[in-house]
Amino acid sequence: MPLPPRPLEPPVRRAKIVATIGPALDDRDRLKAALQAGVDVVRLNFSHGDHETHARRLAMVREIADELGRNIGSLADLQGPKIRLGILPDDGVPLTPGGEVTLVPGHEELDGYVDHEGNPRLPVVYDALAHDVHPGGLILVDDGSIRLVVAAVLDGEVRARVVAGTLAKSRKGVNLPGIAVSAPSLTEKDLEDLRLAVELECDWIALSFVRRPEDLQQAKQHIEELGGQAPVVAKLEREEAVDDLSEVVLASDAVMVARGDLGVEIGPERVPALQKDIIHKANEEARPVITATEMLESMIESPRPTRAEANDVANAIFDGTDAVMLSAETAAGRYPVEAIRTMARIIEVAESTPTLLHPFRPHQEERRVARVVAGAACQVAEDVGAVAIAVYSLTGSSLQMISTFRPPTPVVGLTPDARTLRRAALLWGAEATTVPVKHESTQLVESAERTLVEQGYATTGDRIVVVSGVPGVGGSTNRIMVHTIGDPFDT
Ligand code: PGA
Ligand code: MN
Repeated sequence: MPLPPRPLEPPVRRAKIVATIGPALDDRDRLKAALQAGVDVVRLNFSHGDHETHARRLAMVREIADELGRNIGSLADLQGPKIRLGILPDDGVPLTPGGEVTLVPGHEELDGYVDHEGNPRLPVVYDALAHDVHPGGLILVDDGSIRLVVAAVLDGEVRARVVAGTLAKSRKGVNLPGIAVSAPSLTEKDLEDLRLAVELECDWIALSFVRRPEDLQQAKQHIEELGGQAPVVAKLEREEAVDDLSEVVLASDAVMVARGDLGVEIGPERVPALQKDIIHKANEEARPVITATEMLESMIESPRPTRAEANDVANAIFDGTDAVMLSAETAAGRYPVEAIRTMARIIEVAESTPTLLHPFRPHQEERRVARVVAGAACQVAEDVGAVAIAVYSLTGSSLQMISTFRPPTPVVGLTPDARTLRRAALLWGAEATTVPVKHESTQLVESAERTLVEQGYATTGDRIVVVSGVPGVGGSTNRIMVHTIGDPFDT
């Protein structure tokens, strides 16, 4: 069902903000303030919280978005084959560097957390741990603050030496860098969560720990079987995935530079250059890209960011990201609204320095008509001094293609489809609104003029560029029309 048309805001900020919602935004007034501060897409993190809670939060977001007349999208982030410690005693389990520890696979809890020699035992919620690791292999716990080296695999348990770390805590993540984890890419839990995400009509579905293009194809198949059609975001946080970057990007609908786990898996020093490679590749292939994790980490506890964090957000913008993401800052932090405001301000100022914005072109090797036309439309808009590029887009693909060229001219998506409208919330520089289905070029231009004038984007005498494809055919962008507001439509 199409939503009513929404007022378009003046496009002051082009890059988008994805904010994770969690307990810190459960208060309605706070959530409203957060959304008003500049959230474009909310992220439901299925690593935490039950179905009822996610459904309730999303309903509240949508209700407030309607109230505010804002177009806010949603991203369901599936946990994937994330390995975690089970439940430990409240005070955690002490470890001794140089000492031993035993990992007990496939357990949520243990009867005791020390063995008869006084060495700690930790439950790990992953059945195949003993199968996947080998003596000498590294195991990282809690974002790498605990480092273990496998000494032996005995009776289905893993004996390891503690290299660093003094306290293991409940539910912390376990990473096996460089090891081909045998867990399926979608766990039982993921399939249940996916069902809910489709039921809730989330606009994007993110897959954690993607390893190969097939992981994405498989997820798409599941989504289709559940009757959904949400596009899939590949979270790049495994070495295998970045080794096969081109193929993984091509198999995805969008990507995320998931710097948290990526940094644990491959080492934080490799993340900065990889961030640039991933963003560049995504830009080239016209895939929206989200840069995520620890962007304003200190704002979990503090009302101000560090200088390094301000630099980090701005540099992601300069690298050419579509969106930047907040995780614990908004889900569980003390200053969620301030974090969003701060991020929005950093983006606005970064974008006011156009010479630093990444000058890229989606690659044209394939000579795909849609890309060539989209690129030309952006150039035409600049050259004729258009006040806006109106893109008539049914599936959103024309809009995405235009956004990929990062035009300085404001971009307005016109769509009859509410799903396309909400997906546009993630796309760089794209605002969107709903219009009835149009078939004729004349009708398109008429509808674009009416919308842009009504929403305050254009006035009599202004030039606009209208882009469209063959109605009903995604990716068929093939028309550019220049129109002066107030002129007759029959040309
Ligand atoms: P996560 O993913 O927050 O779901 O772990 C992002 C990351 O790892 O950076
Ligand atoms: Mn992750």
